[in-house]
Amino acid sequence: MIPRVTATIDLSAIRSNLATLRRLAPRSRIMAAVKAGAYGHGAVPVARALAGAGIDALAVACLEEAMQLRQAHVQAPIALLEGVISSEEAALAVYERLQIVVHDHWQIELLERLPGSARLSLWFKIDTGMHRLGFPVADVPRLVEVLRRHPGWSFAGWMTHLACADEPDNPFTREQIERFGRALDGVPGARSIANSAGMLAWPEARVDWVRPGLALYGCSPLPGRSAEALGLRPAMRLEGRVLAVREYAAGESIGYGRTFVCPERMPVAVVSVGYADGMHRAFRNGTPVRVRGRTAYLAGRVSMDMVTIDVRGIDDIAVGDPVLLWGEGLPAEEIAGYAGTLSYELFCGLTQRVRFNYVGGAI
Ligand SMILES: *Cc1c(COP(=O)(O)O)cnc(C)c1O
Repeated sequence: MIPRVTATIDLSAIRSNLATLRRLAPRSRIMAAVKAGAYGHGAVPVARALAGAGIDALAVACLEEAMQLRQAHVQAPIALLEGVISSEEAALAVYERLQIVVHDHWQIELLERLPGSARLSLWFKIDTGMHRLGFPVADVPRLVEVLRRHPGWSFAGWMTHLACADEPDNPFTREQIERFGRALDGVPGARSIANSAGMLAWPEARVDWVRPGLALYGCSPLPGRSAEALGLRPAMRLEGRVLAVREYAAGESIGYGRTFVCPERMPVAVVSVGYADGMHRAFRNGTPVRVRGRTAYLAGRVSMDMVTIDVRGIDDIAVGDPVLLWGEGLPAEEIAGYAGTLSYELFCGLTQRVRFNYVGGAI
């Protein structure tokens, strides 16, 4: 049985991207973001590959994601980026040896209610302008006091998150870094500021810990700078298969809503991927794909199970041919623009129906 849609994940590309990021920030430790199923690449195989390559820590959004990794015997330190929301979660997090990112005073109260013997490990998240999660910078002295009251707690460090790191000319990033530095002036503890864009574009954000996600998967988060130019290799290749090839006369329309009309007599191929696989319906006419080493273009609306492509000039196309939707030579971050979205969302949107294959290392 030939799978309709295949995501091939190259674990050696992920290890190579990790090495590239280590060279970029040789004095920083790396906390790899593997939340959302390692951005759709598969949490367990990716976490194992990173652990095998000596990752310093992993980061997930929530307890369920961390438990999945622990159940797969991933032993690396794991940080819970959204922290915990109940004392049950806090107790489980301690039991699973997770680092809890604490972003509000009510979470401190939860943690203080745990048995005194609980071996707690935590980060404090400071809001320097993102205004999503985090303590206001003015709370730092109170937090230092909390740590003083709890000498048994293991403190991993201070974390903040950048709002505009992917805009190299935006002065707000420097402003956030300065606010963080001022708030923590003279305060002991490790610091962590940067996601992928932060560490790639802002050398001053390469402090004790960096927290890349997207870059590990081989995508550039920076508009105008390709992954290739940054030394990153795409880890995912998404492919559908040609199901049919037909010729239509000029003036005939293709698919739902007749959004594509053949300008001349032309061949159209049907490919086995649709929005039920994660191929966004927003992909517009003209979105490039690759088949037989050449570029073809979406022609007509994405439907649930299929897309149709303009294959003029690809005379040798045949049923069964793989059609590359994104991957090496067709960067997901560029393709995403044709659906008005980001590679992050493409990756996270892949569904159960996609067959995952892993190459480039043991899983
Ligand atoms: C997801 C996340 C990251 C990684 O972001 P990328 O843009 O994928 O590098 C870093 N820090 C926090 C707090 C995150 O939530």
